[in-house]
Amino acid sequence: MKLDVDVLRYLSKDDFRVLTAVEMGMRNHEIVPSDLIDRIASLKHGGTYKVLKNLLKHKLLHHDSSKYDGFRLTYLGYDFLAIKTMVNRGVFTAVGRQIGVGKESDIFEVAREDGTVMAMKLHRLGRTSFRAVKSKRDYLRHRSSYNWLYLSRLAALKEFAFMKALEEHGFPVPNAVDCNRHCVVMSLIQGYPLVQVKQLQNPETVFDTIIGLIVRLAEHGLIHCDFNEFNIMIDDDEKVTMIDFPQMVSVSHRNAQMYFDRDIECIFKFFGKRFNMSFEEQSDDIDGSEVDEDESSRPSFSSITKTAGFLDKELAASGFTRKDQDDIEKFIEGDAGDDVSDDEHESGLCQTNIKGFDSLHLDQKEPTSSCNEEEQGDENQHSPEAGLTGNPESQNSSNEEEDNQNADENDAELMKSLAKQRRRTMAAARRGRKSVASRNSYKDKGGYMLRWK
Ligand code: ADP
Ligand code: MG
Repeated sequence: MKLDVDVLRYLSKDDFRVLTAVEMGMRNHEIVPSDLIDRIASLKHGGTYKVLKNLLKHKLLHHDSSKYDGFRLTYLGYDFLAIKTMVNRGVFTAVGRQIGVGKESDIFEVAREDGTVMAMKLHRLGRTSFRAVKSKRDYLRHRSSYNWLYLSRLAALKEFAFMKALEEHGFPVPNAVDCNRHCVVMSLIQGYPLVQVKQLQNPETVFDTIIGLIVRLAEHGLIHCDFNEFNIMIDDDEKVTMIDFPQMVSVSHRNAQMYFDRDIECIFKFFGKRFNMSFEEQSDDIDGSEVDEDESSRPSFSSITKTAGFLDKELAASGFTRKDQDDIEKFIEGDAGDDVSDDEHESGLCQTNIKGFDSLHLDQKEPTSSCNEEEQGDENQHSPEAGLTGNPESQNSSNEEEDNQNADENDAELMKSLAKQRRRTMAAARRGRKSVASRNSYKDKGGYMLRWK
């Protein structure tokens, strides 16, 4: 199975309505009972069940009758909701090939109508650790609505917020374009992950730049925590761009020193091995000494003048709260060493092989999409919450409320943009970039220290 966005074209308004109802139900149900879905969707004449069958056929939902008859979203279902929202917002109009497989994400090219190609990252926090998520439930027990959708959404929100803030502070990161649910759209970096680069013209300059970035991040109160050759992109001019921010922490984190040292060490090790840069063993007494670029000593966490508050103040402005940060940290911290589970295959996205771009013009074959103002009014009257006795939203965070609001807006927006998009054609730009399959696999190989001569 692939991320067949073609299916998106043939999904009706009711299909999306029911899909959204399942999403809402999942805020407090791992498996959403069929009758609850029916109540939330409030389709006329029991239409929900027919729609559920259709969604199941397209693998947008998973049916579970082990405890009671119910459904949950699959990654694909969640992908479609996010993609639909992005298309409605006019962020992109086409989805192209998969360009990356991260540890807990899939990255695709997406294109605007004018041919601009961007990168779309779909977070899959539950993928490598769906079983582990279950065992970590303790951490998040206070959240009745906790599930992998929530975690993936948090990861995306965090990544987006950090990318934006870092960009504003002049860090070399992709341009953060938009974020919805578990999906982040950003500029496409022309280049390759450092792990694929066998030779550099100026390895020492690149090394200095990278170490300098870790230090500068700490000066801004942040530690990347996964700063390795998989998360550093490098272009033909050896310009460095850093990516992948969901695991970043503040320098006031209790393990900050360890994370900082680990990031530094990772770079030292990689450059030592890959580019034969020689470092001499660093004696213990150097730990804690001043950074000395000339002597290329290992930067020490304690000697860096850090600006606290970066996280709290600037990130809160982008909707990523301290509580969100805590929730995701708790999850990520307990997450090291999990293997890819069978759940990965559920979405089938790892095997995706998209040829060119699939335009998302949601056209002709849509039975119920005669889109007019009256119908949209009707839609609002029968908003999913209206059918609920216990409104799940009341238990949710402001972010979830925002999401829900978005979903409602999107239904109306979708109808408009469907009609508009029907009349358009799209020239999807294709780039000659090599398909990139990478997997972040930082492994701590023990505690020797290195110094670059
Ligand atoms: P994960 O968090 O799952 O590790 P990453 O953000 O590191 O995901 O992305 C995985 C891979 O996807 C990267 O190693 C890179 O090859 C590719 N990638 C990610 N973001 C971009 C981007 N903005 N432009 C180009 N390639 C990207
Ligand atoms: Mg990565």
